[in-house]
Amino acid sequence: MSKEKTSLNFDLFQLVRENVKAMTPYSSARDEYVSDGSEKIFMDANENPNENGVNRYPDPQQRSLKATLAAIKGVQQDHILLGNGSDEVLDLLFRAFCEPSMDNVITVPPTYGMYSVLASLNAIENRKVLLTSSFSLNVNEILANVDKNTKIIFLCSPNNPTGNCIPRDQIKRVLENFQGLVVIDEAYVDFSTEESWLGDLSDYKNLVVTQTLSKAYGMAAIRLGSCFASKEIIGILNKIKPPYNVNELTQIKAKERLLQKNDVEQEVATIVKERKRLETALGSIPFVKHIYPSEANFILAVVDDAASRYEQLLEKGIIVRNRSGQPLCLNTLRFTVGTPAENDSLIRVLKEVI
Ligand SMILES: *Cc1c(COP(=O)(O)O)cnc(C)c1O
Repeated sequence: MSKEKTSLNFDLFQLVRENVKAMTPYSSARDEYVSDGSEKIFMDANENPNENGVNRYPDPQQRSLKATLAAIKGVQQDHILLGNGSDEVLDLLFRAFCEPSMDNVITVPPTYGMYSVLASLNAIENRKVLLTSSFSLNVNEILANVDKNTKIIFLCSPNNPTGNCIPRDQIKRVLENFQGLVVIDEAYVDFSTEESWLGDLSDYKNLVVTQTLSKAYGMAAIRLGSCFASKEIIGILNKIKPPYNVNELTQIKAKERLLQKNDVEQEVATIVKERKRLETALGSIPFVKHIYPSEANFILAVVDDAASRYEQLLEKGIIVRNRSGQPLCLNTLRFTVGTPAENDSLIRVLKEVI
């Protein structure tokens, strides 16, 4: 195996859009005067001065929350950007690096639908290179699709909706042979036995890792996504992000939750245990034809007729996701692992429906 890490030719400056290079970022009141914590009279931001807990603009750099996250993830604060969900982080990546109607990205369906939506929104060609039938990467085909305008390759591991992790050696080959950014979306990493790519950030200048509080941390409603990358990449994203993109309530709630490490771990452990129980139960249902192994908090299963099974479950008040529209996913349903009681209900209904 080659010991070479990031391609020697990686040049971040070349990847950045010209207008982003040239622009001056918005400088907010809270950027210009950073509080040292002492009593001050704030007359700089046109806020209502009456204290109610949220009358002041939030910290645009989310320093307190980032300090907590940095300690937990073992990553320095200047390697982190936070967003209004990872969806915002992904959009910022497009807007920083992809020139509309000129550049392209590569995605590997079946995968998370937002990469494709964001590509369309930003007028960026999306070159789709399907996963193999075992849902691993077709690395040769991916690299064959790269041209001088290919800015980002989006990989998702564990992958949604298939549930598997992308083999490390395959991701390494992409990282080492592509001079644009490789984004690894780790929304489900906390459910997985595979290691995060965060530990590889210093080895690969073109690596970007995204995570979220929406899944394992149980905070989908507060919208907090994180992006981990080199200081230089984070600097570029910081330049273009909306100044107050993470609101104060989210910053407070997220920090609280990050500090409840044991609770989160317990919930994740229960979900993983329940996933295994659901896998076994699904295996005994005659109309379930195949169950894909999962490293996430959901299970993708092939059934005899996804549309009608979906309707039958809906009639019983259980809503699952029909993923049949995705390539390689004909007649698949995706089951998110619920509470033990909810999973009991699903199993009961599945057995009744037969
Ligand atoms: C759910 C999910 C996300 C989460 O996005 P947020 O905007 O942070 O809620 C990101 N990527 C994948 C693959 C997902 O399935």
